[in-house]
Amino acid sequence: MRQKMTIMLLPVGLKCNLSCKYCYHGVMSKKLKELEVMSDSILERIICESSLFASDIDFLWHGGEPILAGIDHFKRAIEFQKQNALTDSKINGRIRNVIQSNLTLLTKELCDFFAENNFILSTSIDGYQEAHDANRVYFNGLGTYARVIESVSMWRNKGKSIGAVSLVTKASVEQPIKFFEQLKNSGITSCNFHFCAQDESRSIETIPEKESTARFFKTIFDLWMKDDNPDFPIRNFRNVLRTFCGGKPLDCHSNVEGCFGFIAVTVNGDVYPCHRYVGRENFCIGNVLETSLIDIYNNSNAVYREFFSLGQECRICEWLNVCGGGCALERFTAKGSFEVPDPDCLLKKELFEYIKNKAGYLFE
Ligand code: SF4
Ligand code: SF4
Repeated sequence: MRQKMTIMLLPVGLKCNLSCKYCYHGVMSKKLKELEVMSDSILERIICESSLFASDIDFLWHGGEPILAGIDHFKRAIEFQKQNALTDSKINGRIRNVIQSNLTLLTKELCDFFAENNFILSTSIDGYQEAHDANRVYFNGLGTYARVIESVSMWRNKGKSIGAVSLVTKASVEQPIKFFEQLKNSGITSCNFHFCAQDESRSIETIPEKESTARFFKTIFDLWMKDDNPDFPIRNFRNVLRTFCGGKPLDCHSNVEGCFGFIAVTVNGDVYPCHRYVGRENFCIGNVLETSLIDIYNNSNAVYREFFSLGQECRICEWLNVCGGGCALERFTAKGSFEVPDPDCLLKKELFEYIKNKAGYLFE
C-alpha cells in the first residue's frame, strides 16, 4: 500500500467561477450563486482525523475552485494542523499543503499567505492564449489566460515554482510547436498533460481526433527531448521514461492500484475515493460527521479493489506497467465498467511505442 495519503478537500464542492468547455464534472458542477463553504467543524474533523493516518499526508485542495472558500478557510486549516502537530515537510514534518486552482481569484493577500505557509500551487494552462481562451472561460464567455499568467507571475515573484495541467483540444491540436514554446515561457516550471475526457452526457465537443492528438504528442515529445531542459519537466514523458529504468510512474492513473491512498471530502462532509467521484452518489463511501475518516478509508478496501479489476486486454498488455489501465473513473465513465481498457488505449499504445523507439536505447 502507498505510504502517502492524499486527503483531497473540496471546500466549495464542485462549484467554480469558470465554465470550462471540457469540464469533466459537467452538469454536476453548480453555479457560483449557490456557493456554500465547508464549515470549520467539518474542516477541523478532517484535519484532526487525518493526523491518525500513519503516513505522510498531502492535503490537496481541489474543486471546483477551492480559492472560492476564501482566505479564512485556509487560515483555519493551518491553525487546525498546528493544533494536531501536523507540521509541513519543509520544516521536518510529514504534511504538504497543495492547491489545484485555476488561479483567476488569487489576490496578493492570498499569495502572501500561501507563500508564508509553504503551500504548493498548481494551475491549468492550455499552451497559448488563443487555445486556452477557447475553452477556459468565465461564465460570460471571456477567456482567463491573461489573469492566470498574472497570478503565475505574482507567485513566481515569491521565488516559488508552479506546475500546470495542460489539455490539448481541437483549438490547439494542430499547433504543437506554438503550444510547447509558449507553455515553456508562461512562467510555469513543470507540466502534466491530461487527455480531454468525455463526460456521462457525451456532450464535450472539444476533444480532438485521435490521429491529430497522436501527432501533437509526438511533436511535443521530440521538442522536449531536443530542449533537454531539466528545469521544464513534462511529467507524462518522465513517467514513461521512469518505467524504462525499472521504476513506477508517479501518477495514480498510470498505476494499477493507483487510487489507493486517495480520499476526498466535499463541502458537507461526504467522502469519496477521489475528487473525480464527487457528486456520484453511488460512489459516496461515508460522511465524516458520522464515521471517522480513517474508518471510512479502511472499511472501503473492497470499493477501491473494484477499481482495479482490469479486463483481459489490460492484464496481458505489454504496456501495463507504463499505463496502469488509465484512470479508473474514466474507464467506468466510458463504458460503465472498470473491466475495460482506457478510452484512449490505442492512442496511449501508439505514444508509448513512439517514446520507446525514440528514447528506449538510452536505457539498454
Ligand atoms: S479515479 Fe482516477 S484520478 Fe482518481 S485516484 Fe483513481 S486513477 Fe486517480
Ligand atoms: S488501457 Fe490499453 S495500453 Fe493501457 S494497459 Fe490497458 S490495454 Fe494496455
